[in-house]
Amino acid sequence: MPKVALTTLGCKVNQFETETMEGLFKRAGYTVVPFEARADVYVINTCSVTSLGDRKSRQIIRRAHRENERAVIAVCGCYAQVAPEEIKAIEGVRVVLGTKERAQIVDYVECALREDGILDGVGDIMQAHTFEDIPLYDSPQRTRAFLKIEDGCENFCSYCIIPYARGPVKSRALSHIRAEAEKLVRAGFHEIVLTGIHLGAYGRDLGGEVTLADACREVLSVAGLRRLRLGSLESLELSPELFALIREDERFCAHLHLPLQAGSDAVLRAMNRHYDTAEFARLIEGVRREVPGIAISTDIIVGFPGETEEMFAESLAFVARLGFSRMHVFPYSRRTGTPAARMTDQVPEPVKKERVHRMQALAREKTTAFEQSFLGETLRVLFETRVDGVTDGLTDNYIRVYVADDLPSGTLAAVRLDRLYRDGVWGSVVRVEK
Ligand code: SF4
Repeated sequence: MPKVALTTLGCKVNQFETETMEGLFKRAGYTVVPFEARADVYVINTCSVTSLGDRKSRQIIRRAHRENERAVIAVCGCYAQVAPEEIKAIEGVRVVLGTKERAQIVDYVECALREDGILDGVGDIMQAHTFEDIPLYDSPQRTRAFLKIEDGCENFCSYCIIPYARGPVKSRALSHIRAEAEKLVRAGFHEIVLTGIHLGAYGRDLGGEVTLADACREVLSVAGLRRLRLGSLESLELSPELFALIREDERFCAHLHLPLQAGSDAVLRAMNRHYDTAEFARLIEGVRREVPGIAISTDIIVGFPGETEEMFAESLAFVARLGFSRMHVFPYSRRTGTPAARMTDQVPEPVKKERVHRMQALAREKTTAFEQSFLGETLRVLFETRVDGVTDGLTDNYIRVYVADDLPSGTLAAVRLDRLYRDGVWGSVVRVEK
């Protein structure tokens, strides 16, 4: 049987898509081996969100070719979609697919195993209007399962390459979401994380009759599910229906990831984000009123073209005021083909670096303050891994909790949070749930 090795760069959506491709290969009789091993086929699911993503993708392709010069290297994902010619120019690449042809990956690879040459299956993503529905044939070995329900984005933030790589919004049918959720719960997963490129736009292409809240209800109706979490969501798309679900169903995790990107109105306008800081602050206050104790995490881009020291200082002050539980800080990355890449007032790299450090320091401070505010409380933890005599897992509001007890992966337990520890909190198990 041929051996296949797969790897993923980038986001949870990509991770999910690699898992679906892994299932397709297994069904076709392939043996899946670790990416570092010698294989007959290497599949690289690329990312293009930053120039670092592009560079890493190229490095991994070259590494696979060095491992086995005769292997078929199949490259897919966002980078392959936006720059197929760059990918084809790398030695060893035999199959290039974008973000909508992955259901056929096994056929492409088999063809490449038989014949010479490079197969280019990258199509026009702007013409893709239906969700590429690949069922999960295999259950990944984790506690939390990602379930992709949407693809594509039409927001065209001025810095972002993703709308060009993923095309318009495409939503998965509710019946298929339910079927996949049932399969995951049957496979032993306790928590499902709904993911998408523009998750809040779920349903827009289905006539606007179904929404993200409907997709959540569908998953929550699956017997045996213990937790539901949402992936990244645009703040403007929060709905009263979602709040009601989070409040009323204790399985719905009190955690929202709402990308802010900048805390200066001038920068937000230049980014083509569709809110200003006052509106964002109002939305966050509303969320906290509706669901007390909720964790709100965010993404911030620093060093966007035209960001002056004053604008950056505004961002820092705004972010400090909002007090996010966690922040992912990225330096602005120039993506060819986007409006921001053509802006003339690019910020020098050393300035970006220095701002990243300052923003990250603030992020650490705010995460600690959030975790500290729960010390002494008892929260439910879903345990995931045990390393060196310590078991760790996550609360529903995304605090990592460590305990000394030996608890199998997937255990839910009520835990008293005692003190800060590593990147989270040390706790004492009060009660293990059946
Ligand atoms: S919402 Fe903006 S940042 Fe997010 S994928 Fe769409 S264009 Fe990119």
